[in-house]
Order: sequence, then C-alpha cells, then structure tokens
Amino acid sequence: MWGPQPEAGPPPAPAPARESDSERMLRTLLGNLRGMAYRCPDEPHSPPMYVSPGVLELTGYAPEGFIGGHVFWRELIHPEDLQRVLETIHAALASRTAFTLAYRIHTRTGEERWVWERGMGIGESPDGAALLEGFITDITPFKRAEHRQAFLSSVSETLASSLDYEDTLAHVVQRAVPMLGEGCLLDMLEPDGSLRRLAVAHVDPTRAELAWELSRHYPQWREDPGGAGAVIRTGRTELLENVSDESFIQYAKDARHLELLRETGVTSVLTVPLHARGRTLGALTFFHCRAGRGYDREERLLAEDLARRAALAVDNARLYREAQLAVQLRDEFLSVASHELKTPLTPLHLKLSALSRELPRCCAGDTRSESLQRHVTVAQRQVHKMSTLINSLLDISRLSRGKLKLEPENTDLGEVLGEVSAWFAPEAVRVGSELRVEGEAHVSGWWDRLRLEQVVTNLLSNAIRYGAGRPIHARVAVVGARARLVVRDEGIGIPPEAQERIFGKFERAVSERHSGGLGLGLYITRSIVETMGGTIRVDSRPGHGSTFTVELPRFPIPETRR
Ligand code: ADP
Repeated sequence: MWGPQPEAGPPPAPAPARESDSERMLRTLLGNLRGMAYRCPDEPHSPPMYVSPGVLELTGYAPEGFIGGHVFWRELIHPEDLQRVLETIHAALASRTAFTLAYRIHTRTGEERWVWERGMGIGESPDGAALLEGFITDITPFKRAEHRQAFLSSVSETLASSLDYEDTLAHVVQRAVPMLGEGCLLDMLEPDGSLRRLAVAHVDPTRAELAWELSRHYPQWREDPGGAGAVIRTGRTELLENVSDESFIQYAKDARHLELLRETGVTSVLTVPLHARGRTLGALTFFHCRAGRGYDREERLLAEDLARRAALAVDNARLYREAQLAVQLRDEFLSVASHELKTPLTPLHLKLSALSRELPRCCAGDTRSESLQRHVTVAQRQVHKMSTLINSLLDISRLSRGKLKLEPENTDLGEVLGEVSAWFAPEAVRVGSELRVEGEAHVSGWWDRLRLEQVVTNLLSNAIRYGAGRPIHARVAVVGARARLVVRDEGIGIPPEAQERIFGKFERAVSERHSGGLGLGLYITRSIVETMGGTIRVDSRPGHGSTFTVELPRFPIPETRR
C-alpha cells in the first residue's frame, strides 16, 4: 500500500463463502465508518490486504484500486509531507507501536485534503512479520477552520500594529493571497465618489501590474452598476461565479478594456464591503483564475470578517487622526489666544499700580479715597489672577510643543518655600488656614528658580483652595542625593479613582464651580518636575486631606546614569 509496486500482484483470495456473525458485524461497522480502515503488510510494495469502503469518499478511488495494486496511498500524499509520514510509519512498524499523523493528500480530482491517521505496527502474521493496521479520516474542515482562525488573528495583529492604515492594509491584502484566491484588490472610497486603488496582490506579480493598469485607465465610481462601486453603495457582498467571456464583453468600456479584462483570466470574483459605524469606507475584492473554483459559504464569511476588521482599523486610525488634529487646533488656538490676552494685561497692571500710587496724593482728605483704594486693590488681585491663568495657558502651549526650557542655577528650595509661603500667608489667613512651614531651612540644588517657585505656588494654592480652612503643613528635606518637598493639607481630599487623573491636562476632581481653576496646575507642575528629572505623587483620603510629595535630584544626573 505504501509504495508503487513494480508489477501488480495477483488479486487477493476471494472472501470465504460463509461469513461468521462477528465477521459480518465487523464488515458492517467498517463499512459505515466515515473514513477508511486498512490493514497492510510490512512490505513497501505490497498492496493492502484490506481497505474499507470509506476510502472512496475520502480519495475518489474505490477499495479495489488499492487492493488490486493499481492505486498506491503514498502516491496520494503531498510531497512535502511524504518523508515525515513514511518515517513515522516505519518507526511504528519497527517498534510495534501506535502512531498518529496529520498530513495532506490529493484526491482523484486533484483536490487537496487534510487527513488524520491513527495506526499501529503489530506482529501478527504466522512468520511474525509486522502488519500495519489503522484508520484514516478527513479533517479538512477542521484544518481550514484552524487556518482561518490563525489567519484572522495574525491579520488583526497586523492591523493593530500601526495607525498608518494604508500600510497595514497593503500587508493584509498580500496575506489574503492565496488564502482567499489568486488575487486580492483593495479600493477605498474618496470624498468625490471615486474609488482609489490602495493595494493589489496576486500570486503572479506580473498579473498584479494588470490590476493597477485597469484602475489607472478605467477608474471605478461609487455609482457603477456593479463591482466595488456597487458594493460600497449598497453595503452588500457581491459574488460573481463562472465569469465568462460574455461578462467581460458586457462590462468592458472599450476594446482595450476588454483586452485587459480577458488578460486577467478571472473566473470568479468576491467583493465585500469595508463597513464601520454605519459607513462603507471601501471594498475588498478577491478572485480566482481557475475554472470551477468558486467561493463557498465559509470563504465568504472569512472574507467578510476580514473586511470588518480592516474597516474597524481604518475607522480607528481616521478617528485618531481627527482627534489629533482637533488637539493640535486647540493647542494652536490656546497659544494664539493666550498671547493676545496677555498683551493688554501688562499695561493694565501698570495703570492700576500707577492709580494705586496716585490715589492717596490726589484724593487726600476725600472720604471716598479709602473705598477707591479698596476697589483698586481688588482690581489688582483680579489682574494678577488673570495673568496666572494666562501664564498657565502659555505654559500648556509651550509644553505641547516640547518647548519647556529650564534655566538652572544654584537655588535654595528652603528659601523658595519660605518666600512663596510668605506671599500666600494673607490668602491662608483669609480662608482661615494656618500655614506652617517646617523642616530644613536650607536645601540647595541646581534648579530653575522660577519654575521651582511655580511648583511650590501650585501646591500651596491648591492646599489653600481645597484645605477646608484647616492647617496646612509644608516642609523640605534632603534625602540622599535628592530634595523632598511635602505639602500636606487636612481638607476635602481626592477620591482614589481621580488621584492619577488630576495630573492630566484640564483634569479636575471637583466640579468646575468648586475649582475656579483650569485643571492645568498639576499638569504643569508634573511636567516641570519631570523635566527636572524628579517625581511627584499624591496620597489622599477623601475628607481627611491630601499630601503631595515632590522629589528632585539636587544636582544634574550624568546622562549615562539616567
Ligand atoms: P485646578 O486649577 O483645577 O485646581 P490643578 O491641576 O491644580 O487644577 O488640580 C487639578 C484638580 O486636582 C483640582 O481641580 C482638584 O479637584 C484636585 N486637587 C488638587 N490639589 C488638591 C488638594 N490639595 N486637595 C484636594 N483636591 C485637589
């Protein structure tokens, strides 16, 4: 059974005239098996002694062909699998053990099938020579399903690997061949209703050029009655089988077109829509060039699944691009707006200062002088607040352009904390909080002083704002090569789920009404601290207060140790 016999041997002896009950039962059971049971001698060229009827469905050859020595199993085995199969069987025969194999065969019609074989080498004949007995069944559907799954998951991986969807889709189109046909095309819908061919794959690269040429000279449109255009318009899969010369003649726009279509040799075409969030973005076309080779239900489902995944990837990539563009526009707007807003603030600030200086002189003795002075002070405070907000916006636009430049110098963090606390003292008193500065008085390091002031300012102003009028503790200390700044309040606290988020751009843990800020302070603070090579963290319990801890390297870290 395993090899061709140089000369066909005599046919096997006829079955005994009278069958025992167990023989009959065995024959019925074997005859009903979906697959083929066999028994053969351990001689490579001898035909099998028995082959069950299931072999006909499995291979297209009747059992007699094998038993009569006209058909040899090993000749049906796929050449790439043959060596492995023979080695396994010889080893099982030599050791009289069982074996299991999965391999490909070709049927009588040339179709490729996957089979599973379970056999055993046994010492059965009177002279002790080994026999091989076993069972072979068709596992093609399982193997195909396995391949389809592996294909889909590797395609999904490719699609998820990058947001440059044109590139990833071109890869996917290449991978679809020959899994879903000899060729594959991808056409995307353009805003003007035309189709743009994005990728072509063909088992024969010279034919791929033909597909490009067709799309260049005979562009497709969404309004076309058939093909990719119609599939995009209707959102429905289109399957054309047994494509004949007649169809080419009907479809062709002119003689050259007909010539090109004929050259493609296409025999069946499957076109599926790329559909996502209610819109059809394009179409994938798969085709065979072999007569009689069409698309079954499984292949159609696979193609649709592939198109769905591709469409989602395109949609995600486009949404991401749009979001990025929107963020870019917002940042540009913020940058322009904050610069423009800042321009009138400086003269306004100067005018208010002048007014405040002039008032006591020109209105001396006037009873309204004191109230006027109070108005000016309030106006000055509001201008200062507005200028802080605008500075935050300016910082944001600098940060988003990666332009936060530090100018480090010898700076004393203890001194900075003392100064900033002194500025905030009146505000702390106003809200009823006691501001306690503790720890070491001097902690020197190599820092940008203004940015350090900004960090301390943001943390102290938050502690005052959210400190619920209770004491605030601020301290600095040296911890090895780093400096530590801790600002602790006993105020409203921050819910655990918001503790990471509040360091993001425009993020708040309280409503807009209760914040009065833009949600930028901590984002800027963290950006400054990280640019300085440090860290910032928060520990907080709602209702019990928050502790912000900043750690900064005191001196620059050599590049190699970063
Ligand atoms: P904002 O200007 O809104 O205060 P921040 O970036 O400084 O912006 O803070 C972000 C959010 O973090 C605040 O809106 C607030 O909800 C929360 N937060 C910051 N500091 C504290 C604190 N000390 N106690 C409680 N919540 C705080």
